[in-house]
Amino acid sequence: MEARQVALESRSPQRPDDLVVEVEEAGTEAVAGAVERARAAAARWAAAPALERSAALVAAADALAGAAEEVTGLVVREVGKPVTEAGAEVGRGVGILRYYAQQALDPDGETYPGPSPAGLLLARRRPRGVVGLITPWNFPVAIPLWKAAPALAFGNAVVLKPSPESTAVALRLAELLAPALPDGLLQVVPGGAETGTALVDRVDCVSFTGSVAVGRRVAVAATERGIPSQAEMGGLNASIVLPDADPQRAAGVVAGAAMGYAGQKCTATSRAIVVGDPARFTEALIAAVGDLAVGDPAEAATVIGPVITEPARARVVAAAEEAAAAGGRLLTGGTAGDGAGWFVTPTLVDRLAPDARLAQEEVFGPIAVVLAVADEDEAVRVANGVRYGLVGSVFTGDLDRALHLAARLDTGMIRVNAPTSGVEYLAPFGGEKDSSFGPREQGKAARDFYTSTRTITVLPEGSGEPQRGAPVNRARG
Ligand code: NAD
Repeated sequence: MEARQVALESRSPQRPDDLVVEVEEAGTEAVAGAVERARAAAARWAAAPALERSAALVAAADALAGAAEEVTGLVVREVGKPVTEAGAEVGRGVGILRYYAQQALDPDGETYPGPSPAGLLLARRRPRGVVGLITPWNFPVAIPLWKAAPALAFGNAVVLKPSPESTAVALRLAELLAPALPDGLLQVVPGGAETGTALVDRVDCVSFTGSVAVGRRVAVAATERGIPSQAEMGGLNASIVLPDADPQRAAGVVAGAAMGYAGQKCTATSRAIVVGDPARFTEALIAAVGDLAVGDPAEAATVIGPVITEPARARVVAAAEEAAAAGGRLLTGGTAGDGAGWFVTPTLVDRLAPDARLAQEEVFGPIAVVLAVADEDEAVRVANGVRYGLVGSVFTGDLDRALHLAARLDTGMIRVNAPTSGVEYLAPFGGEKDSSFGPREQGKAARDFYTSTRTITVLPEGSGEPQRGAPVNRARG
C-alpha cells in the first residue's frame, strides 16, 4: 500500500503563476512497479537483434525531430531556457539518439589470442539490465537522452527520475519516444529525493547528474548495494586569460559562458583568471555582459532568462552581498530583477581573494569573479585550488603556452580559445575531483558504463582441456 500521495508541481520560472504540470509523485510502490515492468522489457530487448535496437533509436530520433518546435517551447516554459539555446538542445537530443543508433551496430566486444590456435577467447558486452537515471533540470532533454540513448542502444531498459522542476519535459519526451520503443523500456517516475532513493534501491546501475551533495549520497547508496554508479556533479570552471590574448574577444566569450542561460550550466565560467594587468579585460567583460539581452526566454534575442526558483535567485543575491562584505568589488549586478519571474541581474565581482567563498563554491546562477594573478604558475595554482575539476579554458594565441598550461590543469575537459560551456556528445565527458565519480559519459565511453563484459572461451569439440605440459597457456587461474 502506498504510504501517501504527494502532488508535485512544476512552475514556469519567468511566470511563477503558470503551472506547467501537476502530477502525483511516484512513491516506493510505483517505482517498484516501474522497475518490474522495465525488467521484463529489458530481458526481451537484450535478446533483440542489434539492428532492431538501432532502428528503434532512429525512429525515436525522428519522433523528437518531428516535435522539435513543441518540445523547444516546453523547455522554454518549464525551465526558462532562452529559446535559441532550447532549440539547439532539442537538436542535440536528436543527434544523440542518431549517434547511439549507430553505436548499437558497432562490434560488441573483442577477441583475444585463444588457448589453442583453433580455440576462441572472446570478451563480449552484455547489458546490465535496468538502468536508473537521476537528472537535473538544466538540460531537461540532452542529459536524459545522453544517458538513455546509450543505455537503450546496448540493450538495457531505462527508468528516469527527472528533477521535479523539469517533470513536464521528461514526461513529454517519454510520450514522444514511446511509439518507437517496446512497452516498458523507457519509463519516467516523477518525484524528488524519496523517489530517487527508491529507484537507487531497485535498479541494476545508476547514472546521476546534479549537485555534489546528492551525487555523493547516490554513489554511496549504489555502492552499498553493490551496483555500478556514475555521478556528474558541480563545477567552478575557470577561464585563464594570458597577456597576449585579445581582451575584447576573450571577454566576449567569457561573458557568454558565464551568463548564458543565467549561468545555470555545470560548464559555466565562474572564474576569469587574468594573468598580468586585468584592467582591459575587466572593462571589456563588464561591457560584454552589459550587451547580453536579459528578459523573456521566449524572445529569440534573449541570452539571460530567469533562474529556476525563488531560492535560487536568493542564493545569487546573497552570494553577491557576501562577496562585497568580504572585500570584493561589485562590478555589475547583484540584485533581484524587476517583475514577477525569478530574474536576477548578471553579476561580476573582482578584488576577491581566491579563497573567498564565491571563488570556491558553486552558486549556479549568473555570477562570476575576476581574479588577477601575477604569472602562469599562480594562474594554475588558483585554477586548481578548488574542490571541483570539470572544465577549464585558456585564452592565448600561443599554442605552446596553451599546451603547457592545459597539461597542468586538474579538469576533465580543457578548451583553448573556447568557452568552458559546451558539450560534444561524440567525446568522453566528465570531470576530476568532486565534479565526477565513476566512468565517463558520452562518446564511446558510455558503453563501459552501460554494459559489462563476459569473457567466453570456446574450444573445438573433442579438444577438451589442454593436457598438462602442453605448450599452451601454462599459467591458469
Ligand atoms: P540536485 O542535486 O538538487 O538534483 C539532481 C537530481 O537528484 C534531481 O532529480 C533530484 O530530484 C534528485 N535527488 C535529490 N535528492 C536525492 C536523493 N537523496 N536521492 C536520489 N535523488 C535525489 O541538482 P539540480 O539542482 O537539479 O541541478 C543543479 C546541479 O547539477 C548543479 O550542481 C550543476 O553543476 C549540476 N550539473 C552537473 C552536470 C554535469 O554533467 N557535471 C550537468 C548539469 C548540472
